[in-house]
Amino acid sequence: MLLIEHLLSGGIITNYYCTSSCRHCLYRCSPYWPKDYMTKEMARNAFETCKRLGCFSVHIGGGEPFLNLQGLLSVLEAARDSGISIEYVETNSSWFTDAEKAVSILEKVKGLGVSTLLVSASPFHLEFIPFKKVLGVVEACKYVGMKPFLWTEAFFNLFQGLDPSKRYTIHDLEIIFGKDKIRQMISSYWIHPGGRALETFFDSGFTFEELLERYQGGCQELSDTSHFHMDLYGNYIPGLCSGLAVETKDLGKPLDPSKYPICSILYEEGIRGLFRYASSKGFMPSKGRQYGAKCSLCFHMRSFLFRQGESLHELAPNSHYKI
Ligand code: SF4
Ligand code: SF4
Repeated sequence: MLLIEHLLSGGIITNYYCTSSCRHCLYRCSPYWPKDYMTKEMARNAFETCKRLGCFSVHIGGGEPFLNLQGLLSVLEAARDSGISIEYVETNSSWFTDAEKAVSILEKVKGLGVSTLLVSASPFHLEFIPFKKVLGVVEACKYVGMKPFLWTEAFFNLFQGLDPSKRYTIHDLEIIFGKDKIRQMISSYWIHPGGRALETFFDSGFTFEELLERYQGGCQELSDTSHFHMDLYGNYIPGLCSGLAVETKDLGKPLDPSKYPICSILYEEGIRGLFRYASSKGFMPSKGRQYGAKCSLCFHMRSFLFRQGESLHELAPNSHYKI
């Protein structure tokens, strides 16, 4: 049985809505999600769960956490009150308007014990956010004495030569810097086969029969807590398997397969088990359909089950499947 009893390292998802719809986004964040934000009570619950399972520091991410400053400050207060330290807060810098406001915002965040800001700089982000906002946040960060953690520094340096007021598509960057260079840099960027990356990077290569032959065992990834996340809805996301959810109150004990049939099947039998289960409900890929990874087939089957109204508490949040 799947048992998540010790949390190693992870983060809190305060919101799924975002200014951007990056093509690689593991959580499919975008402006089209509900404008829900983690409440202080839910944050307390998440931090108490972390402590109960042995984890005393986390990062904060989204969505874009800074889109609701009061909400973010409440979450940080809850962390402080619970004795949880914040490793860093992630940002895409979209909220930057001018230096003075950015400094004032970051001073409030720093005042609640945050010393590092993970600032995104990548071709995916640059499609939505002009680089001048990233530069502005990095400067404000240094001004207030916070450490900017550039993700990635290589892209941050590369973009110095661009017009900072413009947004660039990946195609634009390939023309400016050369296709090979951009593709090589993207290939060394951390991209996980989940969320929107499935459509962007993992949509071809194997038939479902080949994947079922190749992956015979269960998905042990579901029990990996080295990069866990908990979200604003009280869900724990097992492994990096976005779109799967376990209620935080069910952590620390074996998961009941009758409550979590999909997670249990995936953990015990992997995509072969889920294929058997989904097939019994009428799932069958169209002829010639290709997948780039086992997680692509898994998501296709889960989307089918979601549309059938199956086990919706573990196929969550619902916008992950709807938007
Ligand atoms: S990767 Fe970050 S900035 Fe991009 S859509 Fe996802 S949450 Fe938003
Ligand atoms: S196949 Fe599904 S359960 Fe297994 S690792 Fe991929 S997303 Fe997770």
